[in-house]
Amino acid sequence: MTNFVDLHTHSTASDGIYSPGELLHRARDVGLRVLALTDHDSTNGIEEATQVASALDIELIPGIEINTDGSGNEIHILGYFPEYQRPAFQHVLQVLRDARVHRGERIVERLNQQGIHISWERVRQLAQGAVGRPHIAEALLEAGYVKSIPEAFEKYICTQCPAYVPRYKLTAEDGIHLVTSANGLPVMAHPAVMLTSGTLHKWLPRLCANGMVGLETYYGQYTPDIERELRTLADKYHLIPTGGSDFHGPGLHPTQLGGHYVPYESVERLKAAATERHGKFPPPFELPPPVQER
Ligand code: AMP
Ligand code: FE
Ligand code: FE
Ligand code: ZN
Repeated sequence: MTNFVDLHTHSTASDGIYSPGELLHRARDVGLRVLALTDHDSTNGIEEATQVASALDIELIPGIEINTDGSGNEIHILGYFPEYQRPAFQHVLQVLRDARVHRGERIVERLNQQGIHISWERVRQLAQGAVGRPHIAEALLEAGYVKSIPEAFEKYICTQCPAYVPRYKLTAEDGIHLVTSANGLPVMAHPAVMLTSGTLHKWLPRLCANGMVGLETYYGQYTPDIERELRTLADKYHLIPTGGSDFHGPGLHPTQLGGHYVPYESVERLKAAATERHGKFPPPFELPPPVQER
């Protein structure tokens, strides 16, 4: 069976393997008709993606993913249909990407101190867009320290690993506000991967009160039971149920591009909500002072 919709993917504008254009060609090959590009902290792939999508007769939904901090819980906020050309929005994304550079450099420094010899220059070459731990993992793989990307995370750059340096993150509420400030639609990404059911129940009212409009209900390895539970929650809180593969490239995340069924209803509801929001005067976003890194 062919799936037609995938609303969560990454390209070389962040930590995906394929350029936006290549990603669209893969999408065409697996029969997708609607694709959202949701790179971390960057919309720099959207222009190319839109052009190639139009040539391939695929509907491209502009998006973003912001990894935020919810009082120690990692909460990822997707944003659909942001008016991404807004200078204030781009300025904040640039600040987030600059913080990634500074932090990545420090992780490599720490690895070097531990006798692991990869160079920051190489990591920068591997990262064409927003640099992240996946690019450091790639450098570790290339230098022969590990045999796979997951092994690199496990052995060297996991959050508990000695070389780990935390990244400057927005709070979950600010992540939502940032997307809203560009008239985008904030959606909580893969809730059942990051949070326990109890934590999710605790956070949902708070996130909704801050303007969240969707919940990623159809995702990767979610079982039908989990999806039913998330769908019930989405309906209860009047959230748009969305979904996608979180494709980064073959072998990086378990789900292949277009590998999970997402109903077209998600697309229709996102589009309707975006139409209502676009062109209006959004609430401005004020960048909070950078958090002191450990
Ligand atoms: P960063 O934002 O630099 O801390 O890197 C986080 C990114 O690393 C996530 O968005 C994932 O794409 C990727 N990632 C996190 N944990 C793993 C893992 N265990 N194996 C492979 N990729 C991972
Ligand atoms: Fe990623
Ligand atoms: Fe994520
Ligand atoms: Zn993602």
